[in-house]
Amino acid sequence: MSPISENASIDLDADHDDLRGAVRALCTKYPGEYWRAKDRERAYPTEFVTELTKAGFLACLIPEEFGGSGLGIGAAAAILEEIHSTGGNGGACHAQMYTMGTVLKHGSAAQKQSYLPKIATGELRLQAFGVTEPSTGSDTTQLRTTAERMGNGYVVNGQKVWISRAEHSDLLLLLARTTPKEKVAKRTDGLSVFLVEMKDAIGHGLTIRPIRTMINHATTELFFDNLQIPASTLVGEEGKGFSYILDGMNAERILIAAECIGDARFFIEKASSYAKERVVFGRPIGANQGVQFPIARAYAESQAAALMVKKAAALLEAGRPCGPEANMAKMLASEASWHAADMCLQTHGGFGFAEEYDIERKFRETRLYQIAPISTNLILGYIGQHVLGLPRSY
Ligand SMILES: Cc1cc2nc3c(=O)[nH]c(=O)nc-3n(C[C@H](O)[C@H](O)[C@H](O)COP(=O)(O)OP(=O)(O)OC[C@H]3O[C@@H](n4cnc5c(N)ncnc54)[C@H](O)[C@@H]3O)c2cc1C
Repeated sequence: MSPISENASIDLDADHDDLRGAVRALCTKYPGEYWRAKDRERAYPTEFVTELTKAGFLACLIPEEFGGSGLGIGAAAAILEEIHSTGGNGGACHAQMYTMGTVLKHGSAAQKQSYLPKIATGELRLQAFGVTEPSTGSDTTQLRTTAERMGNGYVVNGQKVWISRAEHSDLLLLLARTTPKEKVAKRTDGLSVFLVEMKDAIGHGLTIRPIRTMINHATTELFFDNLQIPASTLVGEEGKGFSYILDGMNAERILIAAECIGDARFFIEKASSYAKERVVFGRPIGANQGVQFPIARAYAESQAAALMVKKAAALLEAGRPCGPEANMAKMLASEASWHAADMCLQTHGGFGFAEEYDIERKFRETRLYQIAPISTNLILGYIGQHVLGLPRSY
């Protein structure tokens, strides 16, 4: 298929204007002061997440039959982009969107029936996604947490790190090894996904330890010590979990990329306004090309990245393969937002360091996305190997 015909049936024009406007209206109730206070205290933005849930935005991917609005990933991306463009942080709640694909595509009818309506109303939060481990990092298939079949369930042992929002979620989507590495043909086999109810797990084999980080992300370490979980927590088929998680990872990359586009918009808007108003040497600093051109460059870069985000979202919505586009979208958008952040700080001079401008906070927050949920090098390795046919590098 030529690149042109590949693009023929995807909709790059869907812009979700009404949805974006509604999200922005909600976000005006949560201005910089709100996010700054949460950041200072490293507190979870419960009020914001609750209001976003009540307004139905976090259930946008849940089908209507389960109480959601049944929209596609493009709508979810638009919601997160708007939150970030107004200075907020979707990192408090975005996992509910990117884990949804795994539950919808591979969850049993019983799991969907018992969880989705409650997630849609906000009675339950699905905000924790447990993949990364301290000793194996990006090399996911080597993970050491095991779920061993015992009687009518599984016994989980191991450790996870950087599992965000675990203390604020009712459900954890967990990846663990159910068949030892030595007994599987491919390293991607033998891993399984479980939907674990936190209330049954905490204190009964699961311990959560918060990690204080440079951003307010409610991230934690998880310790599993003979945690017993029922067989009904298994999502899909045993041993096939890695492919389920990979499916969900494309959605995750697109949604994080959309957040980065929102961040870039925030920085560019802030920098443009300031460069028009701030007068030094008798004229607005934006009249100097040394100030104006970096703003223009950040704009051009973020617009280009936004096109790739749209393409990836449109392909995913059309049920078409989107691995290269989702990865490129995440890489380009995270770089565009970081360049915009640096430009915005530079444009503001010393004032960029003052907390009340929100630039230093957003600067810290947007830096994460070149590392999580996947680092730039790993994306480059993926493009090299899977798109360009170069030798495997990891
Ligand atoms: C705030 C925060 C929140 C997070 N939330 C979650 C979460 O909710 N759930 C979850 O499962 N995980 C989460 N993560 C984990 C995140 O996905 C990982 O940090 C990320 O995938 C990178 O893994 P690592 O930190 O182990 O780095 P490593 O794998 O140790 O890599 C370290 C560095 O080496 C580079 N590198 C490694 N191997 C190669 C190679 N072969 N070639 C070139 N470069 C290489 C990497 O690019 C990286 O820059 C979070 C992380 C953070 C910081």
